[in-house]
Amino acid sequence: MTFRITFLGTGGGRHTTMYQVRSTGGMLIEHDDGRIHMDPGPGAMTQMHRIHCDPGETDSVMISHCHPDHYSDAESVIEGMTRGGWVKRGHVYGSPTVIEGCDGLGPCISPYHLRIAAGKRVFRPGDVLDVDGLRVDIHRAVHSDPTNVGFTFHTEFGKVSYLSDTEYSDDIADQYEGTRVAILPVTTPSGNRIHYHMCTDDAILFAERIRPELILFTHLGVVILKRGAASEAAMVEDATGVRTVAARDRMTVDVGKDVILGEAPSYDDEWIPHWSP
Ligand SMILES: [Zn+2]
Ligand SMILES: [Zn+2]
Repeated sequence: MTFRITFLGTGGGRHTTMYQVRSTGGMLIEHDDGRIHMDPGPGAMTQMHRIHCDPGETDSVMISHCHPDHYSDAESVIEGMTRGGWVKRGHVYGSPTVIEGCDGLGPCISPYHLRIAAGKRVFRPGDVLDVDGLRVDIHRAVHSDPTNVGFTFHTEFGKVSYLSDTEYSDDIADQYEGTRVAILPVTTPSGNRIHYHMCTDDAILFAERIRPELILFTHLGVVILKRGAASEAAMVEDATGVRTVAARDRMTVDVGKDVILGEAPSYDDEWIPHWSP
């Protein structure tokens, strides 16, 4: 079984997003039975092109919540997934604000784009999804979009989790017990805790409580980038002994018997996928 994550962006928060200090394109998750595009914010399509990855082969798009660093390229992903709207295929998964809209947030996908996909599904904490044959558990988060959630992917080689934007609490962390690889949105550095997000100190608390094999920082805000994301990750590893790496744009993570980090080759030409008109 293969399970590969490619970071199409490692930035997050409004300043990193508006200046594209890092890309904010989310993650591509490739498994035996399909390909998921998770949280396609600004830069998602640019990064897909850079690594020569055809959005016509994406099977599902999942959007954790209705903030632009997580959804703004979603309609383009859906147009890719449906080969320009000509082939009814692919599934759209999102929280209530993403798909339906509520309390002044969203919806962030138009009725047209929901209609051209083969199916749509609203998820809530406690749901267990079958996404193209992959089991995905949906967890609680504490965020300014109250419908936001976190995710655990069940692979043959253990659990891989993505917490999405949330505050830290032991209660939130405990949902990820037994996870092997934890992808944490660490928006701010040590000593800079802000409402509804995690900072490096929270990553230390998470590492001590859950002790995964690997923690990956993503959703990096401008302040942690200025401070040095790699040194902030090293701080977690030094304090807890848990391997911790600040992800970089186009980094790949292969989860097998071992967890192997690599880098997707980056191209910069006028590549056009084969199915394109
Ligand atoms: Zn965010
Ligand atoms: Zn958010």
